[in-house]
Amino acid sequence: MALTGIQIFKLLPKTNCKECGVPTCLAFAMNLASGKAELDGCPYVSDEARAQLAEASAPPIRPVAIGKGVRAASAGGETVQYRHEKTFYNPTLLAAVVGSDIAEADLETKLKAWNAFQYERVGLNLRPELVAVKDVNGDQKAFVNAAKKIAETSEFNLVLMTEDPGVMKAAVDACGFKRPLMYAANDNNFDQLGALAKEKKLPLAVRADSVEALLPLIEKLTQMGVKDIVLDPGSREIKQAHRDQVAIRRAALKDLNRAVGFPTITFPCEMASNLDMETLIAGTFIAKYGGIVVLSDFAGESLFPLLLQRLNIFTDPQRPMTVTEGIYEINNPNENSPVLVTTNFALTYFIVSGEIEGSRVPSWLLIKDSEGLSVMTAWAAGKFAGDDVGLFVKKSGIADKVKHQELIIPGYAAAIAGDVEEELPGWKVTVGPREAAHIPGFLKAR
Ligand code: SF4
Repeated sequence: MALTGIQIFKLLPKTNCKECGVPTCLAFAMNLASGKAELDGCPYVSDEARAQLAEASAPPIRPVAIGKGVRAASAGGETVQYRHEKTFYNPTLLAAVVGSDIAEADLETKLKAWNAFQYERVGLNLRPELVAVKDVNGDQKAFVNAAKKIAETSEFNLVLMTEDPGVMKAAVDACGFKRPLMYAANDNNFDQLGALAKEKKLPLAVRADSVEALLPLIEKLTQMGVKDIVLDPGSREIKQAHRDQVAIRRAALKDLNRAVGFPTITFPCEMASNLDMETLIAGTFIAKYGGIVVLSDFAGESLFPLLLQRLNIFTDPQRPMTVTEGIYEINNPNENSPVLVTTNFALTYFIVSGEIEGSRVPSWLLIKDSEGLSVMTAWAAGKFAGDDVGLFVKKSGIADKVKHQELIIPGYAAAIAGDVEEELPGWKVTVGPREAAHIPGFLKAR
């Protein structure tokens, strides 16, 4: 049971030292009870009180770690209903299904193709995490072989989809080292799958026909000591499935109902007859509030937009996305190529670099740290001042890479030209276009 703010307050030091960022221990206790603060915020909690408070201070939706290696990730762990209240933490995990009867060569081909779906954006590698192996005919050997192949020969982590405890045990024995998600416990098998999950310390999904029907199963599993649970309320019709996701999230966060404080798994692959429609449904669950989304396939044209949607939703809205300060080479520049400078706001970088790339003019692009602000905002906030930009150009080392001494600054920062020239004696500062769309014409005309 979650503790109330007053119960938590009784366990705090009551010195009102303010080190946790709020004026009183009572205020901190209230924040802790409502999930707005974390226990680590108070450095003076005794070990005894810490143990008692652990449950109260845990995120209202338990983070469940799935997988090992470079594609290991967690689902759940969220603390707010809406992204703008703070941020969402653990991006929806993306899975694609293979049947256990898939031929080995076909599985190899799929894994190779799926592994190639990796996209670099704002210094991140965007890619899917999971392959779900579905037991289609009860053939234990085929199920284990497919799971083993994925576990041993690919970076992907696993969802093991069988309701047969014997088949599940054999697969877990073969690839438990990858920390697969077991799917799914139901009314008939929860005791065997629950015992297996507890013994192997693996995450276990639980499936019922409605949110209400999930509750007794969750209770039985938690009483057995299973901690890492993933919920499937069984809905396979978009309207009801969406309602269930919202209801689970609201109950966990607003009502602090720990019984449903777990991430969910959703199945667009069982809700549509083609990948396009599945992709739309998957987009709905990435927005609200699928912990895992299972598709029938990964294809670039559907996966890429889902990865971008996920990136946008699971970034901190209070922190602009940035790229690293430095020199970026575009179209293989040489010592005579033009040098342009702009800010490190990710969107600015992508638009400017994209236009330069499109121009096919070899160029050097200098990215100056402006704390993620765009050119005009950075200039107005003093983060893209002339002396700063000049100093940055000096330190960047670009002078060693080019024979000329000309720097092109953004048109919107024309006012800094004089200060940059003062900081860079001997350099010519040229004011470039205001709009990135005019960069190709500007570069080509030089
Ligand atoms: Fe109280 Fe701890 Fe906050 Fe200090 S840091 S005010 S002791 S809760």
